[in-house]
Amino acid sequence: MMSDEMNYMELGDKYFLHTYNRFPIVLDRGEGVCLYDVNGKEYLDFAAGIAVYALGYGNKAYNEALKKQIDKLIHTSNLYYNAPAAVAAQKLCKITGMDRVFFTNSGTEAIEGAIKSALKYAYSKSPAKDYEIIAMESSFHGRSMGSLSVTGNEHYREAFGPGIGNIRFAKFNDIQSIKDQTNEKTCAVILETVQGEGGIHPARAEFIKELRAFCTEKDILLILDEIQCGMGRTGHLFAYEAYGILPDIVTVAKAVGGGFPVGAFLMTERVAEKSLCPGDHGSTYGGNPLACAAVNEVLRQFEERDIVGHVKELTPYLEKTLDGLKEKFDCITDRRGAGFMQALEFNKPVGDLIKAAQAKGLLLISAGSNVLRLVPPLVIEKEAIDKMAAILEECLK
Ligand SMILES: *Cc1c(COP(=O)(O)O)cnc(C)c1O
Repeated sequence: MMSDEMNYMELGDKYFLHTYNRFPIVLDRGEGVCLYDVNGKEYLDFAAGIAVYALGYGNKAYNEALKKQIDKLIHTSNLYYNAPAAVAAQKLCKITGMDRVFFTNSGTEAIEGAIKSALKYAYSKSPAKDYEIIAMESSFHGRSMGSLSVTGNEHYREAFGPGIGNIRFAKFNDIQSIKDQTNEKTCAVILETVQGEGGIHPARAEFIKELRAFCTEKDILLILDEIQCGMGRTGHLFAYEAYGILPDIVTVAKAVGGGFPVGAFLMTERVAEKSLCPGDHGSTYGGNPLACAAVNEVLRQFEERDIVGHVKELTPYLEKTLDGLKEKFDCITDRRGAGFMQALEFNKPVGDLIKAAQAKGLLLISAGSNVLRLVPPLVIEKEAIDKMAAILEECLK
């Protein structure tokens, strides 16, 4: 290891709050679907900064759009209008099928806003302070107190008290479990259309359709968290499109900024009419011109380059390649997912495999201890898939 690298790792270990066990790599720059560390070592990236860098690295048009906006204006606050935000709002509403948007700086903030929107909607119909939300076991929605409270993984919640309260957990893909947790206080059901952190579990079509009908019948709001599975990742712009349904509230983040931190929660007009109004919610940075310029450029490229079509086209190849690995190696017990959001489940922890792949120049992440999560940039081509499979195979032998 060169001294540069050691220096930065030592510095980080000395001064970062120790909330992550980082891999011993100091990343420096990116190009296409590859990242380079400070020593110039190349890594094929099947992590994409956790499903963020959808359009790949060193994207000239994207970088130029941001540079141009930096020279004009970075921040205004929400006390005034700005052009990039207004345009991004219109575009995001159009592609999600929603009518109103609130921009945030992260995924967890989008979840916070979605929770507040649902509580306010119920409160407007009938003022009470004990409305309940149903969330899913093994879900992940973020680390702030509200989103942590609807996150199913008990380990994440353990040390942090009762959370926001009035949350009930039901089984994902089990409509009866949701019905069992429902009562007259239930105001919303929140779930990921494809569970990410929880191990890459797509919602079953029947389940989502029944849930949609059930929520409509009871006027319970359906909140779909598309922070990871949205923005083309599953071969649909939003994963719920595959089921022919619309949620009442949607959260987005990760890929929507193409690397720049930005998120949003959106809702239908029907919800918005009875939900958050002036004074109820806010954000100093949310919807700043720089973040929204990033969103606009991402959406422009999605359209111009038909990113969703590319994912759809290459998904069978990726799935076939992963199925091939599963057939070759007994330690792989399952392959599942949708589009470029795929999982290989193993009969043992995948930590060592991830380290071995890194040594051979492939970045991978897990989703739970036994699940390898593949969330590459959406612009990967067949060669990248072949290379990923070849390195994995070498590591597994
Ligand atoms: C990453 C993620 C979040 C949290 O987003 P942050 O930007 O890390 O706050 C919420 N929900 C899902 C499904 C995610 O994958």
